[in-house]
Amino acid sequence: MRVYLGLGSNIGDRESNLLDAIERLGREVEIELISSPYDTEPVGYDHQPRFLNAVVGGDTGLSPDDLLKLVKKIEDDMGRATTFVNGPRLIDIDILLCGDIVLDSEFLTVPHARYAERAFVLVPLAQIAPNVVCPLRHKSVRVLLNDLKDPGQIIRKDWARSQHV
Ligand code: ADP
Ligand code: MG
Repeated sequence: MRVYLGLGSNIGDRESNLLDAIERLGREVEIELISSPYDTEPVGYDHQPRFLNAVVGGDTGLSPDDLLKLVKKIEDDMGRATTFVNGPRLIDIDILLCGDIVLDSEFLTVPHARYAERAFVLVPLAQIAPNVVCPLRHKSVRVLLNDLKDPGQIIRKDWARSQHV
């Protein structure tokens, strides 16, 4: 199943944190696409440092529930202190899309409940997968991004360190 995951970090060496998480994801997900990193303003809670965000795409045999377990384990193993929703974090990994699956349980909502409103997700997602169609909204990522009223400040950067995909 083709999955897309959004990553964010705004504590410590943000780029190292993203690359560390991508490397850990790569043990269970065959990562095929990695966006550039984007320097973005915090959404929802302003009094915190800017984020570095990226999106990856890959193939996995994991179910959405098992993918969530993996994501939480990586967040825990990397020492993400439990803060609060939209608060500062060493690493945040969100499951954006899992093939054409649409599900909404107590623990997991796929497609991610807020990704289509977030420029810091849609801009990197549109870089690597502009033609992927949201199974809920029946719109491509490119169209979802065009629909955004105020994308805010999303600054594309280059990876300073090389990646091996
Ligand atoms: P946020 O990313 O919105 O700031 P958290 O990372 O703290 O918040 O996640 C809160 C909870 O959201 C997670 O514990 C998880 O159970 C739930 N969740 C629901 N849907 C998803 C999803 N698609 N991807 C990641 N977490 C999700
Ligand atoms: Mg999260």
